[in-house]
Amino acid sequence: VQPLDTAWAVRWIRETARVVAENRALLIDLDRVIGDADHGENLDRGFSAVVAKLDAGDAPGTPAAVLKQVAMTLMSTVGGAAGPLYGTAFLRAATSLGDAGEVDAAAAAAMIRAARDGIVARGKAEVGDKTMVDAWTPATESAETAASAGATPPEVLAAAANAAHAGAVATEPLIARKGRASYLGERSAGHQDPGAVSTALILQAASEAAGG
Ligand code: ADP
Ligand code: MG
Ligand code: MG
Repeated sequence: VQPLDTAWAVRWIRETARVVAENRALLIDLDRVIGDADHGENLDRGFSAVVAKLDAGDAPGTPAAVLKQVAMTLMSTVGGAAGPLYGTAFLRAATSLGDAGEVDAAAAAAMIRAARDGIVARGKAEVGDKTMVDAWTPATESAETAASAGATPPEVLAAAANAAHAGAVATEPLIARKGRASYLGERSAGHQDPGAVSTALILQAASEAAGG
């Protein structure tokens, strides 16, 4: 079982940057139909800046320090709705980890819960509003269930990633009630929410980085 240590956190973030770049066009296309076609561009810019910082600076000393650097960089480089929301998510995730050198199963679930609750506190969306909350919420629940059942830390991340993916797929028929997509009303139905899809990518990257 791979430890969720600082090296894991760095792999997570580098893998996120890679999959966001790989799915840039997909995220742009999803945001074109129900938003303003910039989600893939916004996130690619943000995570490219994050990787540039990792390449340039001293390696952060704890998983939390990695996530805090991500939060600060996303807040200053990603505009729109997603920048502050993901910035808050990574900042809360970092805070929940404290100065631990390694993240155990319960702490991994708590980290995902903290990120999700930060997004809800910031954006005030509820489940079913067709936002990234519809991916983060089932991810949180599955992670907590797995951790309570004695799963390993990588298994907790895999459970979160799978649930986030299912949650993103399930946004397709929903009518958006928050963010730009809500301006479309009923016409927002029939397409997955871009932020829910990018959430699934981010959590899948966390799982991949742990060997899942
Ligand atoms: P913008 O809409 O400003 O162009 P992005 O395109 O980068 O920003 O991000 C759009 C995504 O942000 C949406 O797909 C949705 O998941 C998420 N989002 C928007 N508003 C909220 C909110 N209030 N709460 C949670 N997520 C939101
Ligand atoms: Mg947009
Ligand atoms: Mg925009």
